Amino acid sequence: MPKLEISKVHDAYARPGECPLCVLEEDAGKTCLKSFQHSRVMEPNVRVQTNRQGFCPTHSRQLYEGEGKLGLSLVVHTRLQHLLPEIGSTLDAVVRASEGRNVKDRVAAAAAPLSGLHDSCFICGLVRADSERYILTILYLWSKDPGFPPVFRASKGFCIPHFLTVLDRASKSMRADRFRRWLAEAIPLMKESLEGLEKELRAFSQLHQAGNVSLGTEVERSALGRTLQKLSGGLFGAR
Ligand SMILES: [Zn+2]
Ligand SMILES: [Zn+2]
Repeated sequence: MPKLEISKVHDAYARPGECPLCVLEEDAGKTCLKSFQHSRVMEPNVRVQTNRQGFCPTHSRQLYEGEGKLGLSLVVHTRLQHLLPEIGSTLDAVVRASEGRNVKDRVAAAAAPLSGLHDSCFICGLVRADSERYILTILYLWSKDPGFPPVFRASKGFCIPHFLTVLDRASKSMRADRFRRWLAEAIPLMKESLEGLEKELRAFSQLHQAGNVSLGTEVERSALGRTLQKLSGGLFGAR
């Protein structure tokens, strides 16, 4: 069984918000970036992975804006060396594809390997592995720790993307009767929080109407960021 992250999950549930997994993933991402910049960057097995996987646009930018330009430049250099033959042959294939019939389709197919370069990310992979452990821990605590269901019921559920992942893991790992009991708690949380956001977002819109002088409440002021988080995942605004 993978390592459970009980104290981190409890800490995330102690913080108010729309989705504890967004908070946990944000923290996991920061920890991965920091450890990558400070020590892991030179580990040979890490280099093999970064050569193969590279970084997504978000993590490329965060690494560039962080410390350790020398370490990053070495990693990017070996990644580029790794990719050069593949990129070169793909570009040659694009030229060949332009010479026959159905040019549009054949050029798009020939260029497709280039669009896949950003589909994998070493740091996203680490965060995803952490996230799986957080989800496992949440479901474990809900099933085994009598103190956790009241904490779960007092939360706002999850953002929609994380809800879908937790739903999938719960449906696969729980017995049918336990899964139905989990759903009976999770679905009302999701509905109530979405309905609450609809009202809070209406108040947020009114705060931004011309002529309004009210500062509104903290709940109203944070409604737009929390609604965007609920629908698409990730943290928005000050935290
Ligand atoms: Zn989330
Ligand atoms: Zn990434």
